[in-house]
Amino acid sequence: MNDVAYIALGSNLGDREQHLMRARSAIAELRDTRVIGVSAIEETDPLGPVDQPRYLNQMVAIETALAPRELLAELHAIESSEGRVRRERWGPRTLDLDIVCFQRQTVDDPDLRVPHKELPQRAFWQRELDELRSHAP
Ligand code: ADP
Ligand code: MG
Repeated sequence: MNDVAYIALGSNLGDREQHLMRARSAIAELRDTRVIGVSAIEETDPLGPVDQPRYLNQMVAIETALAPRELLAELHAIESSEGRVRRERWGPRTLDLDIVCFQRQTVDDPDLRVPHKELPQRAFWQRELDELRSHAP
């Protein structure tokens, strides 16, 4: 089934712009997927208990035939290829790719929640979603 998905990109280590740019390219090359919108880049303060640099954030809208779980696996592979090392939760990272929501599908599993459970708390995700939806075809 073709659906629209919104992916949040975040980076707060190394060349942040470069990590976002390469993530956008990798997302554009996913099978059965096409990018239909890209938000502005926004700088945000880190969340959570760990002292760390500020983030660059951006959101990408895609039309995809990938199921949520397939998309998550692809996003994890892109994170790894950008040199992300999983250490502490909430800690600094070269690239974080989160599925914010799908237009039609939902998932409620321990390792995948769609819409993302932090969506109600993250004003910048709401702003980016509004921005992308206002340009939707
Ligand atoms: P953060 O919560 O800071 O994004 P991670 O990127 O390390 O932390 O993600 C931890 C786990 O969150 C992932 O391995 C994934 O299984 C799970 N997860 C649950 N829901 C989602 C979602 N909507 N998008 C991305 N990851 C998710
Ligand atoms: Mg994540």
